[in-house]
Amino acid sequence: IIKIERLEKRYGHFTALNLINLTVRRGERIVICGPSGSGKSTLIRCINRIEEHDGGRIVVDGVELDGKLKNIDAIRREVGMVFQSFNLFPHLTILENCMLAPIQARGVAKYEARERAMHFLTKVRIPDQADKYPGQLSGGQQQRVAIARALCMQPKIMLFDEPTSALDPEMVNEVLDTMVELAGEGMTMLCVTHEMGFAKEVADRIVFMDKGEVIEESAPKEFFARPKSDRAQDFLGKIL
Ligand code: ATP
Ligand code: MG
Repeated sequence: IIKIERLEKRYGHFTALNLINLTVRRGERIVICGPSGSGKSTLIRCINRIEEHDGGRIVVDGVELDGKLKNIDAIRREVGMVFQSFNLFPHLTILENCMLAPIQARGVAKYEARERAMHFLTKVRIPDQADKYPGQLSGGQQQRVAIARALCMQPKIMLFDEPTSALDPEMVNEVLDTMVELAGEGMTMLCVTHEMGFAKEVADRIVFMDKGEVIEESAPKEFFARPKSDRAQDFLGKIL
């Protein structure tokens, strides 16, 4: 469902992504990890077209991401994204946050958008918070709203960029539980996270990045028991 070939991304003279190859099949769960600055966020942002790449190809659900604006809209509809910071609209209620994009970007009728929003808020177990504002919710609750909001667009792929790293420890699990559930339903997921418990439980593959390159790709069992590269060993030594 995602095919990335020889992807390059530069910021000025700095190469943030260097010849990345990655294929993700429908329903696969990928965990991306690696040291700070290794290009994880940049890769995710290129897939969602928040950043434009400089070389190589990215094909998402059969659509190549190139300069044409038409493609960008198509991709944004297929790909949901959840960031470290929740990015909810503070002046809209939880329900309104979830209804906005389907109505504006997909032309969904208001009553249907409301139903959909309540459906996904129920799924992330906070239907009772629908009429509150983001500022009135805990971090874990806000992040679950962000997940529900992304799901309201009925994406084929969900991208997560360190969704739990800004949360207090006691709230991490409620967000991870939501992600585990989503994985169990067959959603295609790319998650940048250092939550290795989650990676072990959910990931079909671990992609380890360093200095803008994919250093290794392996099944979680293999990755944790016998990382192939020194750099992955070093990284695991630091975080485990
Ligand atoms: P972290 O774990 O800290 O989130 P990361 O692996 O997500 O790190 P990226 O955010 O993808 O790393 O950044 C990769 C490199 O690209 C870093 O060296 C960063 O400084 C650089 N970079 C990222 N965004 C920009 C930008 N907008 N302009 C210039 N350099 C950037
Ligand atoms: Mg990052």
